[in-house]
Amino acid sequence: MRFADLVAGYDRLEATSKRLEVRAILVELLKQVTPSELPPIVYLMQGELRPEFEGVELGVADSLAARAVAQATGRPESAVAESLRRTGDLGTTVEELLPSRSSRLAAEPLTVHEVYSELQRIAAASGEGSQETKVHTLVELIARASPAEAKYIARFVLGKLRLGVREMTVLDALSVAFADGSKEARGRIEAAFNLSSDLGLVAEATARHGLDGLRSIGLEVGRPLRPMLAERSPDLADVLKRMEGRAALEYKYDGLRVQAHVPAKGPVKLFSRRLEEISGQFPELVAALPEALRRRPAVVEGECVPVDLDTDELRPFQEVSRRRGRKYDLERMQSEVPVRLFLFDVLLDGRETTLELPFPERRRRLEALVQNTDRVRLAVQTTVSDLPSAERFFEEAIAAGCEGVMAKSLAEGSRYRAGARGFWWIKYKREYTHALADSVDGVVVGAFYGHGRRGGRYGALLLAVYDRAADRFETFCKVGSGFDDATLAELPAKLRPYEVAERPESVATELAPDVWFRPAVVLEVRGAELTLSPIHRASFGAVRPGAGLALRFPRFTGRWRDDKGPGEATTSAELLSLYRSQVRHVTKGGATEPET
Ligand code: AMP
Repeated sequence: MRFADLVAGYDRLEATSKRLEVRAILVELLKQVTPSELPPIVYLMQGELRPEFEGVELGVADSLAARAVAQATGRPESAVAESLRRTGDLGTTVEELLPSRSSRLAAEPLTVHEVYSELQRIAAASGEGSQETKVHTLVELIARASPAEAKYIARFVLGKLRLGVREMTVLDALSVAFADGSKEARGRIEAAFNLSSDLGLVAEATARHGLDGLRSIGLEVGRPLRPMLAERSPDLADVLKRMEGRAALEYKYDGLRVQAHVPAKGPVKLFSRRLEEISGQFPELVAALPEALRRRPAVVEGECVPVDLDTDELRPFQEVSRRRGRKYDLERMQSEVPVRLFLFDVLLDGRETTLELPFPERRRRLEALVQNTDRVRLAVQTTVSDLPSAERFFEEAIAAGCEGVMAKSLAEGSRYRAGARGFWWIKYKREYTHALADSVDGVVVGAFYGHGRRGGRYGALLLAVYDRAADRFETFCKVGSGFDDATLAELPAKLRPYEVAERPESVATELAPDVWFRPAVVLEVRGAELTLSPIHRASFGAVRPGAGLALRFPRFTGRWRDDKGPGEATTSAELLSLYRSQVRHVTKGGATEPET
């Protein structure tokens, strides 16, 4: 196909936003081209060179593109800049400045394949001298283009080609152009796309062999599939009803969804929920996965959550987002924000695709596949068939630092539905975790050395409340947030007078800090809420056997309570009444938060 014909189609697409019209234009376009031209055409239409998960980028900055336009049009860079100020779009500028094609050359018109391979050459140029290669290739391409063609090339190169053609509309058009346009045909085409995330692959296969062509498209290691999504429910009773009285419940971890592709040999690839490759940002997971899986190749899914490796407590989601998109300081971030991957599904087990198996069978496979390590664990799960058990599990999940539970259907039809949202998975979150009404005055009884940036200093302090009746200090949190650099630097000197070799008799805790202190120094903390914890000892057993109270996401307010001695700190009884008042206020549900 001549590139000019594609550009004529672009013009028509730009002129409408009506889905049916867009589809009709696409159908016409798709029917004109050979199957091998389809992948370039559908990728280009999405503003991409390859499927998005491959992360191929042209790497042409605005200034570089403007320079190429100046060279190709034979105008000074100042003239390009001047025009650009007026139009605000390099595409319009090049269309204006480029003389018509016939006045310049008699060479053959550009084909789609040629444009595509030159753009690939631009993307592939890297390392020393690559900027010059990119500019040079772009200049040559524009010099051979008509003004209208150059407009789209410039926009594409800058990532500003917005034709408004959504993936789903392309799938619609494929079903009309190469099958009978029925709902069933559309469904099968979409299923192939959900499994491969590759619009070009699906388009070419359908064009060559109709729906039969889709049979060859399956799950492949290294190529992400579109994730299965969950519906939501207002309460646990409703969840159970929808699941016909019996369901698997899992902790709903609050972190980043990760789809891990572990080949028999070669590098592990991690993909985000939006199918971007994020392997580079989590090298410790890449290293840990092969060890944690008993069989390979495998494709597994889980949630990557920040954890405190000393206490095993989960940390707030925001911390892990600091590790997203990072290219530098990876080492430091690994120790500053340690993460753990909680696996909840298996899609490929050895050479066998497990997508079609009902969920209970997949979970059995997952349990047989995974050996828990420091970095990789199975998501906590139980099966419930009555409301009180479901509620207990939900409270346990919250106490463990999760945002709620995920219910999963145990029915025969509970296969993995790539890219689909449905009631096979139902999320139920605590709607709102309110900041604790009051601050807590805690006594410092221990300290942990810092990791990474805080190396050589204290990274966190262990705090206790006072139990008057027993004359004992019972821990309720480990606090590392809220200290500025100056305070952190002063901590060892401030606390040294109280340092002791062993845990003082009067201190009750399951934790082993690096340094112990005699209870003396009091400071003020705030937190998100009080939860139940097996490792903290405050009001131990008062709410539930085997559990004490813990402050979730504690933060130093900056106030040292030098006016208070340890015996005047917050008491265990006060903490318990704070917990009880909070339980009465908690609203549960999941109906109002925005969709992500
Ligand atoms: P939401 O992002 O609120 O729509 O909730 C769905 C997300 O919860 C999924 O995309 C996962 O990232 C996450 N999640 C956490 N724990 C689980 C679990 N046990 N099973 C499935 N998804 C989970």
